[in-house]
Parts: sequence; C-alpha cells; structure tokens
Amino acid sequence: MSDTFRAVVIEEIDGKPKAGFKELSKKDLPQNDVLVEVAYSTLNYKDGLALTGGRIARKLPMVAGIDLAGSVVMSGNPDFKPGDKVIVNGYGLSETQWGAYSRFASVKSDWLVRLPDAFSMQEAMAIGTAGYTAMLCVMALEDAGLTKDDGEVLVTGAAGGVGSVAIAILARKGYKVAAATGRPETHDYLSSLGASSFVTRKELSQKGAPMAKERWAGAVDSVGGQTLATVLGQIKYGGYVAACGLAGGNDLPASVFPFILRNVSLLGVDSVMAPMHRRKRAWWQLAQDLPKDALAKITEVHPLSDVLSLAPKIIAGQIRGRVVIDIAK
Ligand code: NDP
Repeated sequence: MSDTFRAVVIEEIDGKPKAGFKELSKKDLPQNDVLVEVAYSTLNYKDGLALTGGRIARKLPMVAGIDLAGSVVMSGNPDFKPGDKVIVNGYGLSETQWGAYSRFASVKSDWLVRLPDAFSMQEAMAIGTAGYTAMLCVMALEDAGLTKDDGEVLVTGAAGGVGSVAIAILARKGYKVAAATGRPETHDYLSSLGASSFVTRKELSQKGAPMAKERWAGAVDSVGGQTLATVLGQIKYGGYVAACGLAGGNDLPASVFPFILRNVSLLGVDSVMAPMHRRKRAWWQLAQDLPKDALAKITEVHPLSDVLSLAPKIIAGQIRGRVVIDIAK
C-alpha cells in the first residue's frame, strides 16, 4: 500500500487561500495523541466557504473539512483503542487544526465523541455539524421552556442542512413545524420531513414591523440578517429563537421591542466549541429524536473527488439537505 494519501489542502496562492488535492504522508500530519483513519466527512456551509476562498482557515497550509467519522488507528489515551469508532465535529478543524478531507487525521482525544450505537459512520456524517447544530438549537429552545403545546415553530433556511434536520427532529417530537424556504420545489421534500406549512424566504427577508402579528412560539434560524430581525418581530409573547447561522447575512437590523415588550428570548447556538457534555447529550438525543427514514431522505453521498465542485453550490443555496463525503473515493 502506498505511504501517501489524498487530502484537500488550502494553501496561499497569489495572496489568497486556494483549495486543491495534494498527496500527504502520515509524517506531514500534526502531532496529536490520536490517529484516526477517516471514513466519511461532510459538506457544511462553512466547508463551502473554506473551499471557495473564504477566510475560514486561520493558518495555512490547512487540511479542510470540519467533521469526521472514522476508526482509531493509534492512541496515546487509554480511553481510546485501535478500532474504536469516533466522531469529531468542529473543535477548530479546518480553522486552526488540520481537518477531515484526508484519509488520516491526527486529532486530540479531548475532541472525540464515540460513535453512538444508533448510527453508522455514514449516518453520523449525514448528521454532521449541521445536524448536530440543529439538535443543539432544539435543545436550546426546550431548555429555555418551549413545549409542543405552545404553538407553531418556524425553521428558516428549511431545505438546507441545519433546516432539514431541525424539521425532522421537531416533527418527531410532536411540534407543528412551519418551513421558510426560497425553493418552492422542495415543499414535498419538506412535508415528507414533517413540515406542515410554508413561508417564503422573500417574505421574511423583507423588513417587518418590530412588533408584527404574533405567529411563532419558537424558531430555529440559520439565516440571520433581516430574516432573523423579521422573525423576532413575529414571535409570540414569551417565545424563543435559537440563532445559529448567517446564510442570509451576519448583521441583525432588529428592534429591542420583542425582548422588552414580548419577553422574547434570543438564544445563541455555537457548535464548534460546545462543551463535551452538551455534545454527548446532543448525540444521545439525535439517536432518540431523529427518525432514520428522515435522515435517509435528507442525505446524498458523494466521493471526496466531488468536494471542490460541490462547494460553490452550497454557498449558492443549491444543495438540498446534507451531503456526506466518502473519503476513500
Ligand atoms: P446550507 O447551505 O445547507 O443551508 C442554508 C439554507 O439557507 C439554504 O439551503 C437556503 O434554504 C437558505 N439560504 C441560503 N442563502 C440564503 C439567503 N441569501 N437568504 C436567505 N436564505 C438563504 O447550510 P447549513 O445548513 O450547513 O448551515 C446554515 C447556516 O448555519 C450557515 O450560515 C452556517 O454557517 C451556520 N452554522 C452554524 C453553526 C454554529 O455552530 N453556529 C453550525 C452549523 C451551521 P432554502 O433554500 O430552504 O431557502
């Protein structure tokens, strides 16, 4: 077997970060305490940014890919043995730590979550950071007090990765779910995941009244910008919004009225540095609350060789659901 393996490496070319395939060997990898043979990764929005010249990597060269599922090959930590199946989500992969688009990855044992029995490695990457973040959003809403009896819950960016998984989880838990999408052609798909009504992306991306008609008991927002501001104005008295994304913008042109007159709570959700106890709980809850048939509908599997051509598509909002990347292909 060859000593080298293929990886997607971001390097500085003409002053700009540029991603391409390179052959690496194990001695090129950083020195962390666990060596993992990566079976699957995923394509998240952040991966799309990193692969299309976005400044995600904070040092170069950088192996891209923020999520991995694979088998331990060598471990300096007695808690993990060769053959153990593990997941890493975030923890700076593709930003400050070499990431997942590589047959081997050297990672810190502190970052490892054991693959839950409920999922194969491919299914774990079908969930990936986007799906695990969707679970963190639902946990944030419910920890704050949301229940299915409070009313309809809105999911923005519905046909994307976070949105699709959030809809499937909320529907399984018995919530009535409204999907906000810019792609009417995805309505059948979103209904099959459990959405029961639809809002257009356009309607929410327009400036709304700071205190509009009360419509939603809660919301999972992966869009940000004007959409998040408009949604805040439509939340019912005492409701909650879990905000995790910026697919529509990183600003927040909102008013304080929903907070101070309607007792609305805006809940920030970060997956990258989420503490280990919360990650473990999210993966445990995904095993309870994410139906396998919904996960199958959400997922497409592509070889690693496709990842550079898929990246611009996720940034353009053209990917539906989740993309799994098969590292060996
Ligand atoms: P996807 O590209 O899969 O989904 C984003 C969806 O947002 C699209 O499918 C589209 O949905 C909608 N959208 C795209 N562009 C626009 C736009 N200009 N205006 C309004 N809506 C738009 O990405 P992910 O689901 O992987 O990630 C979603 C967001 O969440 C990203 O910003 C990502 O960075 C963030 N994120 C944050 C995490 C965290 O830790 N906080 C972790 C994971 C993701 P539709 O076609 O249905 O309208």
